[in-house]
Amino acid sequence: MILLKSEREIQSMREAGRIVALALDAVGKVVEPGIATQELDEIARKIITEHGAKPAFKGLYGFPANICVSVNCEVVHGIPGSRKLAEGDIVSVDCGAEIEGFCGDSAMTFPVGRVSPENARLIHETRSTLFKGIEKATVGNRLGAISYAIQSYAEKAGFRVVREYVGHGIGRSMHEDPEVPNYGFPDRGPVLKAGMVLAIEPMINLGTQAVKTTGDGWTVVTLDGKPSAHFEHTVAILPDGPEILTRLA
Ligand code: MG
Ligand code: MG
Repeated sequence: MILLKSEREIQSMREAGRIVALALDAVGKVVEPGIATQELDEIARKIITEHGAKPAFKGLYGFPANICVSVNCEVVHGIPGSRKLAEGDIVSVDCGAEIEGFCGDSAMTFPVGRVSPENARLIHETRSTLFKGIEKATVGNRLGAISYAIQSYAEKAGFRVVREYVGHGIGRSMHEDPEVPNYGFPDRGPVLKAGMVLAIEPMINLGTQAVKTTGDGWTVVTLDGKPSAHFEHTVAILPDGPEILTRLA
């Protein structure tokens, strides 16, 4: 069942989204060669708690950290730790916060120092892919319009779309109905209504779309070891168009 949010509830989600955006902004500013991924986790935790919110991923399904940090061939759900980022890496940071009983969810991929042209293009195009999807998050469209826009843009750019992990509705829970796949057909899925809030999150691979989970039970990696990028925003569908809740004004 897709829960529609009232204007008052969306106001709380704006606050959750703003805090997630502040945390990701702070993390992005310190991404550089030599920093350990657990330092990124600590910065995000500090920003989120200083604003009176709760890191929403901590303990979610048993996840052991505050944010997910996924490096290079790691697609999503990487666990922050002592690993230090190196020049040329790309690092995806996925962050969630909860305040006033509502959640925000956003992810970005950052370059570490100077990266290869193909990694730079993967990051740039994955971000563009997300915005192609967001453009279709309008009242009266079907959900599949978002999925189709993401898949067709990413594949035209020469990349592959991860199938096993998808976007989702979001509200009082981090993961609500509906699922928001990053592939599909524009005339499928539920009709989008004002008050729906979706986390749209393409995971885009340079090589094969196939992924697997590693031995830690969390970290998802590409099967061919090639890099993957991930961008996500929490988006409210409003009568006059989509509003990105996880963006700094
Ligand atoms: Mg996320
Ligand atoms: Mg999400």
